[in-house]
Amino acid sequence: MALWITDECINCDVCEPECPNEAISMGPEIYQIDPHRCTECVGHFDEPQCVQLCPVACIPVNPEHVETRDQLLVKYERLTGRPAPSSVSVSTTPPPLA
Ligand code: SF4
Ligand code: SF4
Repeated sequence: MALWITDECINCDVCEPECPNEAISMGPEIYQIDPHRCTECVGHFDEPQCVQLCPVACIPVNPEHVETRDQLLVKYERLTGRPAPSSVSVSTTPPPLA
């Protein structure tokens, strides 16, 4: 799922520069998240960076943009032009036997 910013946002400017996908921008009144660029930080970090940093906890998941982890990894690959990190590969090929 992409995340979204509620109207509790206090425009503290902390989250925008920390988003690895440049998904956060200033909207008409408060910051907003482009759901087509937000991967929940999948592919970049273990936890959503904006959620970790937001001082007022106003960044929940966006119920209108439900996505699986694999879909988020495909989005990561589309946005970055790089294959998803091997530890979280979207490949359906089973790993070789040890
Ligand atoms: S979860 Fe990550 S990718 Fe999504 S808006 Fe927050 S910092 Fe950006
Ligand atoms: S960190 Fe939270 S309060 Fe600050 S600008 Fe981002 S969404 Fe708004």
